[in-house]
Amino acid sequence: MPRSTVARIDLDALKHNFRLAQAKAGDARAMAVVKADGYGHGIAAVAKALADDAGKFAVACLEEALALRAAGIRQPVAMLQGVHSQRDLAVCRQRGFEPVLHNGVQLEWLAGDSAPSFWLKVNTGMNRLGFRPDDLPAVMAKLEASGCGHHVLGFVTHFACADDPASAMTHDQTAVFERATAPWPDLMRSVGNSAAHFLPDQPLYDWSRPGIMLYGASPMIAATGPELGLKPVMTLEAPLIATRVVGPGESIGYGATWVADTETRMGMVAIGYGDGYPRHAGTGTPAAVRGTRISLLGRVSMDMLAVNLTGAPEAQEGDMVELWGGTVSVDEVAACAGTIGYELLTGVTARVPRAHE
Ligand SMILES: *Cc1c(COP(=O)(O)O)cnc(C)c1O
Repeated sequence: MPRSTVARIDLDALKHNFRLAQAKAGDARAMAVVKADGYGHGIAAVAKALADDAGKFAVACLEEALALRAAGIRQPVAMLQGVHSQRDLAVCRQRGFEPVLHNGVQLEWLAGDSAPSFWLKVNTGMNRLGFRPDDLPAVMAKLEASGCGHHVLGFVTHFACADDPASAMTHDQTAVFERATAPWPDLMRSVGNSAAHFLPDQPLYDWSRPGIMLYGASPMIAATGPELGLKPVMTLEAPLIATRVVGPGESIGYGATWVADTETRMGMVAIGYGDGYPRHAGTGTPAAVRGTRISLLGRVSMDMLAVNLTGAPEAQEGDMVELWGGTVSVDEVAACAGTIGYELLTGVTARVPRAHE
């Protein structure tokens, strides 16, 4: 019998979250960001579930865009990191992919009629990718001169601090973007990761780009997904495979970092960092069994971890333990591990089967 450790994926919750994103996007349309294997949820299943609602999908790279076509997705697919070779542009044109081009080399690869429709990335302050706002007039003039001007769909920028409503940076970036793109009012504009959907009065123009919120995890620094009205999509669970009582002075696991000071009933759960559960989640990190919150003890091993069953005396071997999901938010576990929900969701390894339901 296979190990019952599993990531259960609730596709109705995913649809709920997409509809929330679309509602928050107002007059903008929301493109569904499904990069990194649908943030670890399975790109094909996620995209198929959203295919009736989403007018466009977005991925990071060509392989992911091709995976969407292999899954039967017909919508345009934005490629947020552009292309890595000239040959990729021909594939984009043939398959209806919209690369977001961000440097002069990529523009030189465009050759007249073989160019796909594409977006131009504008660097408004994040300083990862994109053309300087001041350079846009020259970039556009060059594209017009080479006969590629009509392939430009519009402009894209990305916010650095939208997860923090107190930051002035999103407002500043928006102002820079608006000024830089004003000369081309007929072209489209796309801003807005998930976090921007939760900022009051934030313009999202033509296309917003929600990712993490579709999966029910929080894009904001100061709230969990459920607190924002999002439904958790992934429930990561694993069976209790041993229980025992340890006495005062006895330790558990590698490094013997946790030592009982009173008699403690504990259990071993069949999941570890080899499955993508974060090793940095220490003693006290929440989990749940039979709907009751419990917590981790000691260090996470590769294939298992220990939990304190004092609060769940009815728990037995064979019970499933929720590592994150509807009772314990992935955002809480992430906080305990010093990271963000994004990293935990995308980090669940291939050893864990995804069960789409
Ligand atoms: C990943 C990504 C998004 C989605 O971001 P979330 O924070 O997951 O909503 C949007 N735009 C770009 C350019 C991205 O790379």
